Amino acid sequence: VKIAAVTESSPAAIAGVQVDDELIAIDDGEVRDFLDYQFLASDMAHDFTFRRGNNTFTVELVRQGGEEFGIELPDEKVRCCGNKCTFCFIDQNPKGLRRTLYVKDEDYRLSLTYGNYVTLTNLEEWEIERIMEQNLSPLYVSVHATDPLVRRQLLRSRHTDEITPILERLTAAGIRMHTQIVLVPEVNDGDCLRATLDDLERLVPEVETVAIVPVGLTAHRSRLAKLREFTGPEAADLIDEITTRQSRCLETYGRRIHFLADEFYLLASKPLPPAEDYEDFPQIENGVGMIRRFEHELDETDQLITKAASHTGRERIGLLTGTLFTPVLRKLLEPALERTGEKGTFDIEVMTVQNRLFGSPVTVAGLLSGGDIIEAMREQTGWDRVLLSPEMFNSDGYTLDQMTAADMAGAIHCPIQIDFNGPVVSGV
Ligand code: SF4
Repeated sequence: VKIAAVTESSPAAIAGVQVDDELIAIDDGEVRDFLDYQFLASDMAHDFTFRRGNNTFTVELVRQGGEEFGIELPDEKVRCCGNKCTFCFIDQNPKGLRRTLYVKDEDYRLSLTYGNYVTLTNLEEWEIERIMEQNLSPLYVSVHATDPLVRRQLLRSRHTDEITPILERLTAAGIRMHTQIVLVPEVNDGDCLRATLDDLERLVPEVETVAIVPVGLTAHRSRLAKLREFTGPEAADLIDEITTRQSRCLETYGRRIHFLADEFYLLASKPLPPAEDYEDFPQIENGVGMIRRFEHELDETDQLITKAASHTGRERIGLLTGTLFTPVLRKLLEPALERTGEKGTFDIEVMTVQNRLFGSPVTVAGLLSGGDIIEAMREQTGWDRVLLSPEMFNSDGYTLDQMTAADMAGAIHCPIQIDFNGPVVSGV
């Protein structure tokens, strides 16, 4: 690995290590990427072997407590998947989104660092061995189905390795994992799902959780396989079945293991499980327990909404969200404001925003675009502030269609606040 930078006055700099030197080994271990580096350079002193031109040299680097060796490795190129999943959301993206939203990343190194889900279809043997040797866990694994034919039908992968033997090898070596099943009606539900859940249960405790999430379909599927969404009665049957399974797992393993995405309960018009049934919310990023955690956060908040610094008197606030969350917010907000004593200060109106970018099947707030918000606000006047979900923005503050809160605030002529206690942004 070529050295990207050497920190000034660090042990590496003092030893004469230079940018573009190639780090070959640490002690006796080969360095292939940053994971090897993290694993091999964990002690206070190591022998580092470098190549510079035709010369190879080894230096001992010693660091003090809290100090780094001072070697920076280059950013890694993200690996992509070789799959063509029938339900892939990226294939259902409209044109004009942020470029990164078209990247089909499938990199177990990102799974370890950021919790990205991977199918493990592009793993080479040395990588499986490395995961086991370096105890790289937890991994986030998209299983979908353990039946090899069904999984192949779903993933349409050119890699044909079965998932179960890989999972068995990894878990036997103590690798912990969170798993997910994207459930597609009439493809991997019913008996196929039961068999998959049974197979995964056999790998508990290393398999810590299984999230079952409904297939997400957008309006941009004209040239893709015909799939359908779950109906309310189907969702209700699934909830009954998984609830029974959870009770059995709780008795057997002391944990529920299997969790259904919130969407299934909303679809079935059934009450969500209580917050404690989500345990420590291990699959929250997958939309499992989001509503209960949101409720919990409202309960915990002393003051729900920050008073805008410039505002005097009673303030009119519009809270914009997707169709899925609208009834939940309407039900929760009133009592929350009452409890925090803010009811007399704010008038809050919850407004549903239709997803024009992805189409009406997409109902979550996190997939609303800046354009959707602007369109929804076209006829709306008289609000002092608009509140949006932070899920709409990436870590750099951009929506799916590359707008900032300030861009939107300018277009709708109204300040925007991201999240209840986030900063209030005015238009540019
Ligand atoms: S693994 Fe499947 S769903 Fe994920 S990016 Fe690749 S094709 Fe899309």
